Amino acid sequence: MEQALAVHARMLTVDTHVDISPDYGSVKFDPGIFTASQVDFPKMRAGGLDAAFLVLYSGQGKLDETGYAEARDMVERKFQGIRRAALAYPAQAGLATSAAEVRALHDQGKRALLMGMENAYPLGPSVKDVPMWAKRGVRYISITHMGNNQFGGSSNPNEKLGDGKADPGLTPLGKELVKALNDNGIMIDVSHVGKRTMLDAAKLSRAPVLASHSGVKGVYDNLRNLDDEQLDAIRKSGGVAQMVAFRSYVAATDPAIEAGMKELGAKYFPDGWKEAKPETVEAFRKESRALRNKHRDTDLKQFVDHIDYAVKRIGIEHVGIASDFDGGGGVKGWDDASETANVTRELLRRCYSEDDIRALWGGNLLRVMEMAARQATP
Ligand SMILES: [Zn+2]
Repeated sequence: MEQALAVHARMLTVDTHVDISPDYGSVKFDPGIFTASQVDFPKMRAGGLDAAFLVLYSGQGKLDETGYAEARDMVERKFQGIRRAALAYPAQAGLATSAAEVRALHDQGKRALLMGMENAYPLGPSVKDVPMWAKRGVRYISITHMGNNQFGGSSNPNEKLGDGKADPGLTPLGKELVKALNDNGIMIDVSHVGKRTMLDAAKLSRAPVLASHSGVKGVYDNLRNLDDEQLDAIRKSGGVAQMVAFRSYVAATDPAIEAGMKELGAKYFPDGWKEAKPETVEAFRKESRALRNKHRDTDLKQFVDHIDYAVKRIGIEHVGIASDFDGGGGVKGWDDASETANVTRELLRRCYSEDDIRALWGGNLLRVMEMAARQATP
């Protein structure tokens, strides 16, 4: 662990997917202090996590004006929250919109906060808002989330929204989106995106594509994970696939944990978790932790198996790391930002060199971010 901490401290580490609540940076959620969440500034410092993409996420709804307006409101609240947090803690953290800014903040010993948008749904029926989000600092946008949208097909189509099983591919508006993202220097995120849509986007994009938080089907077959053909397409584009530490994408969950989680969900969130009080969420977390300690939990080794597989398939320069913390992510051994150095320790144990680990922890991502920025038209 000594060696791991020393190596870890020398690196710039980037986690490409951290969820936030719309109350981020308010009295309801203050990231400048230790919180019940998996990521806050003290936990980032304790674990040597230098930079994180905070995510403007909105769930998929109907493709109509009401749905778009609700999604726009949700991402606006999250954007304002990130701004507030950065303004409130200028000595601890800063907003970064380029690889150079990430490096500069790291040199000053500050956390770098980046922004990604999960689901392009709030853009509505055109791509006219893309320049605004680029100007505000959003550096990746995923085409879809759970369910098809106006731009293309999802890896997890939603029958309730009328999606068929087959991915329709990029729609004409989806093609406009790829061009608009390229023109504005925003990385195209293909996590959550259906295979056909994803391959279309990788082919059409002038810049390398990113999978901000996905696993590989070669280790665990799950709709959300990338198969070999998708991994190859990411490599061919010059992009990077960020392996995600999300239990149910990493490996099959112990049936006892699965059943227990279902029970806890029904007990604490009968009306859905979105409206739940923080105390309820905390009580739920406590019980779910106890449940996972009692049975065999998905662990860090199983997570790093995904990194190994992806590296063997497409090479060290096309693979990275993401937690999906506060959005369901975490495995035993890397279950909040304060445990981040454990990932480096496991990589060292598997004989990755320091240069390899540096590439995995952010070198590759920053390269792809720079290449995307270079595509921006003046
Ligand atoms: Zn996600």
